Amino acid sequence: MKDSEYWNPILETLPREKLRLLQLKKFKEIFTWAYERSKFYGKLYKDAGIEPGDIKKFEDIKKVPKMEKSMMRSVQGPGKDNFPYGDILCVPLEQVTDYRQTSGTTGQPVYQADTWQDWELSTEAYCYAMWAQGYRPSDRIFLPFGYNIFIAFWAYHYAGEKIGCEVIPGGVLNTEARILKIQELKATAMGATPTYILGMAETARKMGIDPPKDLLIRRITVAGEPGGSIPATRKRMEDAWGAKVYDQVGSTEIGHWGWQCTRQAGLHVNEGMYLVEIEDVNTGEIIEEPGRRGKMVVTTFGRMAQPCIRFDVKDVIQWNARQCDCGRTYRLLDGGVLGRADDITKVKGVLLSPMAIEEVVRSIPQLGNEYQVVVTKKGDIDDITLKVEILPDFKKDEAAIKAKLTDQLRLTTNLGYNIEFHEYESLPRSQAKTRRFLDQRPHH
Ligand SMILES: [Zn+2]
Repeated sequence: MKDSEYWNPILETLPREKLRLLQLKKFKEIFTWAYERSKFYGKLYKDAGIEPGDIKKFEDIKKVPKMEKSMMRSVQGPGKDNFPYGDILCVPLEQVTDYRQTSGTTGQPVYQADTWQDWELSTEAYCYAMWAQGYRPSDRIFLPFGYNIFIAFWAYHYAGEKIGCEVIPGGVLNTEARILKIQELKATAMGATPTYILGMAETARKMGIDPPKDLLIRRITVAGEPGGSIPATRKRMEDAWGAKVYDQVGSTEIGHWGWQCTRQAGLHVNEGMYLVEIEDVNTGEIIEEPGRRGKMVVTTFGRMAQPCIRFDVKDVIQWNARQCDCGRTYRLLDGGVLGRADDITKVKGVLLSPMAIEEVVRSIPQLGNEYQVVVTKKGDIDDITLKVEILPDFKKDEAAIKAKLTDQLRLTTNLGYNIEFHEYESLPRSQAKTRRFLDQRPHH
């Protein structure tokens, strides 16, 4: 078996200039493939007057039109060609072996087709992440996730097998049964959303099981929510389990493009398999320098059935100036995915990122894990209510905690809040992505 620190020692340590050349080559390949085989992409590019011969140097990539979710939805679904995938598809339908879809919380889901080779590629991308997080064949992974039509932790399952770990599918078991299995089988690792990881620890304690003492979980990969890159949330998870917690990011349409390595210094972009560009929201210019926020535009290399080329994801990210101590040349993102471009909204004229609120709430130990932010409009004025849960032992300290919260929030977000204390465990909890930021202002 491998004894290297890297899943792919050559690619992950490739000098930057060689990496760029490789990215250019891989971009050209997928662009040409889609241009020639997908009606959707072919039309998009012909309308923009760009063809494969026009991509000669790295800077030419930004001439290629971006694509977004609504465009995929418009060619997919009932009544459209190649049901359900639509004209994006680059291979005959009979070569498709894997169906996934997005959650569709904001409308018709995106239907994602993969060939067997595409699916292998997604799995390979997850192997980079897990290997960098210290997963080795001696790990016994428990997967507390509902195996269903959403991508969620499917690739984590297959990558675990590919690395040589032992994988336990904890599909339809309830939380209590999952915890008992983790204990019985002495599982060493697992993957889930931050919300579920925190909820599981609460359930375990109610069962009289103290995870750091009574269970052997030593590494946890979280995905689906930003918590793994929010230091206060990560610390809560690490304390609750006595384990290291690592962030991992990806989506149905893109695949698994980034991860935290054991140094936890930021989110590595898997630049051998993906091209991540950061675009200035106002000028459209590509941002190369660290510390400047912009919108992520991403290309997946080599995914053949339903390519993802210059996909405008509407996530906000920024480059980190540091090179990681792990020796990878893959760049780091500072603070992971900083939020949805739609969620980073102006409240009382100030830009507010919901993640900044989470960092404050979860750094106060007397508060529970759950919280909710509700923005409303009273007359002409925006009004923010922050609902938090106070732990039963600290009810007497409400006034002091409120003062501390108000101070900290003012300091980090520059805004004032109505703070509401709720009974412990009374705010909504969910196994899937939990929405904690509710903007209830009428559209302006
Ligand atoms: Zn690293």
